[in-house]
Amino acid sequence: MDSADKEIKKVVFATGNADKLREIREILSDLPVEVVSMKEAGFTGDIDENGETFADNAMIKAKTVCGALGCITLADDSGLVIDALDGRPGVHSARFMGHETPYDKKNAAILSMLSDVPEEKRTARYVCAIAAAFPDGRTYLAEETMEGKIGHEARGRNGFGFDPVFVAGEDGRTAAELTDEEKNRISHRGKAMRKMESLIKEALA
Ligand code: IMP
Repeated sequence: MDSADKEIKKVVFATGNADKLREIREILSDLPVEVVSMKEAGFTGDIDENGETFADNAMIKAKTVCGALGCITLADDSGLVIDALDGRPGVHSARFMGHETPYDKKNAAILSMLSDVPEEKRTARYVCAIAAAFPDGRTYLAEETMEGKIGHEARGRNGFGFDPVFVAGEDGRTAAELTDEEKNRISHRGKAMRKMESLIKEALA
């Protein structure tokens, strides 16, 4: 079958985040799919993200929306795991110190919690899990990390969230000092997205 005859499949991305939606559209742009948000697809229910891991939460979201709409559904969950804080904020990253608290305050709190922690114990990682659920019951999971360290001060204006205190580059730059392209190449989300792209390609073949 030539590609022009291929049926365009609707893929729902279970997010309310416009940046994530744009990113996934770009990544899946050479596949015969139309990516729509769960709102555009008509999903209005609540999702109880009560999983203990990033993978659990991504899978809960993907399966809930797929079950409700009967469409192939992708969902992601991500966060920051700090070893010296026993893995916190972890799956609670988005809620850490409350949704309304600005990140400069959250980042200052993290630096202060780690003020006595020596260099070798400041290890941390971003984790991103992306799940796909198909109406026929198939599920796929891509999980990747970006290893780094918590720095001693907030630096940089790019990126978002915890990026100014997350030292990502071997040259000591924080994730907020990397360009979008540099970050995307090595980031938990970029790597997980690319892995999911190949899983979806195979699944649709
Ligand atoms: P999610 O939208 O539930 O996946 O929320 C993930 C949360 O983890 C965000 O609100 C940030 O606090 C944090 N996070 C995940 N990825 C990144 C990143 O690349 N940079 C900075 N913070 C991140």
